Amino acid sequence: MLSPELSARLGELTDLGAAGALLGWDQQTQMPPAGGEARGEVMATIASLGHERLTAPELGTLLDAAEPEDEQDAAIVRVVRRDHEKASRVPAELAREMELASARAHEPWARARATDDFGLFRPFLEKNLELRRRYVDCFEGAEHPYDTLMDNFEPGLTTARVREVFDRLREGLVPLAAEIAAAEPAPVLPGPFPIAGQQALGRDIARSFGFDESAWRIDLAVHPFASSLNPQDVRVTARYTEENLQGIFAVMHEVGHGLYEHQIDPGLARTTLQTGVSLGIHESQSRLWENLVGRSEPFWRHWGPRLRETFGAGIGDCSDAELLRAINTVEPGLIRVDADEVTYSLHVILRFRLEVAMIEGSLAVADLPEAWNAGMQELLGVEVPDDTRGCLQDIHWSFGELGYFPTYAIGNIVAAQLWEALSAAVPDLDDQVAAGEYGTIRDWLREHVHRYGRTVEPTELLERATGQALDPEPLLAQLRVKYGGLYGLAATPGARS
Ligand code: ZN
Repeated sequence: MLSPELSARLGELTDLGAAGALLGWDQQTQMPPAGGEARGEVMATIASLGHERLTAPELGTLLDAAEPEDEQDAAIVRVVRRDHEKASRVPAELAREMELASARAHEPWARARATDDFGLFRPFLEKNLELRRRYVDCFEGAEHPYDTLMDNFEPGLTTARVREVFDRLREGLVPLAAEIAAAEPAPVLPGPFPIAGQQALGRDIARSFGFDESAWRIDLAVHPFASSLNPQDVRVTARYTEENLQGIFAVMHEVGHGLYEHQIDPGLARTTLQTGVSLGIHESQSRLWENLVGRSEPFWRHWGPRLRETFGAGIGDCSDAELLRAINTVEPGLIRVDADEVTYSLHVILRFRLEVAMIEGSLAVADLPEAWNAGMQELLGVEVPDDTRGCLQDIHWSFGELGYFPTYAIGNIVAAQLWEALSAAVPDLDDQVAAGEYGTIRDWLREHVHRYGRTVEPTELLERATGQALDPEPLLAQLRVKYGGLYGLAATPGARS
């Protein structure tokens, strides 16, 4: 048992975190647009109260005096001490300046994106970068300044390791995408897909994955996301368009995030460890449900008839095989969030390179559009017509969130590693998915990933669940098998087995 004083402080920190999450959820789902300016202030105040509480010397004293009696309490003390020490190195004034700069950059970024005018956003990105450099300077001992930024999203991962893993990923993905591009293209479903039908189908799929009305909500948001106030209050969001079925896959994605939060050990309640351990592990959960379950052949054996019944003519005269190809269309494009399973990580690799270059100072913000466009040409073979569909497309840099992007591709890699381990543990996995049964998958993930919350470090978690370190080979091998079959590709030039 932790002392009542320490528990009370952790509870307070958790409550401030939940209040911030609720303000953020409201901002993106309910708040009228004109409320944005004032909301930025409220969120900055809550964040700075959290920072104040986390850095309080009294917390350090209580942690020093703690005598944890079991492994879980020991993990709580270790993780909170690390959070406390990290936060204590950042002056409160800098922390607040970073919060305010993120909030202030949002509107100019949105305007720059809407009017294709990078110049409007440029000074705000420069300010965010300057503040991140000052943040990095608060820490010593990192091999690379970018390591310090990534540590906030993917503890333990280094720039050097990401470079290695991404190089290998690029080597496998670029030729695979090229081979698919040369094969017969997937059919395009004619549509339209009325939104009411997508909402009903999305909700039923979400329920079958584990969405539970008493502890979850689905609301609409311009940029879908998931957040949770605690494991019994999970908020997922969705966005639908009549033109395609992306909204349904986005729901599966966000429910994957939600399940992670929902299945964390209740013993971690009102501690700051009752959340996902890293963004990469979090993204592995969303990608696993969206891609490895939701875009698989057995999944559509079950849900295909319902899809046809719901949308009728929208599906056209596609056979089941053609429908599956349509759901797994691969096409290099301009927009990361619209990218398919094969090309998605290439978008991430570009952002990683550019962020590292900007933080190193080898790329000036003014030269970002040009570097972006050249990278898109090199990695995806596409010409970028404007900055709106180029370097202004993502919201992250307006928040000043550098070091975040790599976690998206790490998520794809980890999802494939977990799927490999899960498939070995559950020999009739495909049959279960084809029967619309996901309980075994959910339980396996609870046991091997979710329940730990932040008590086990990402590398250790992966090692325990899969017996492996971070490794892009399972992802490359699975993509090759899947898309080799769907697109009739020859044997395995891109994969090292
Ligand atoms: Zn996600």
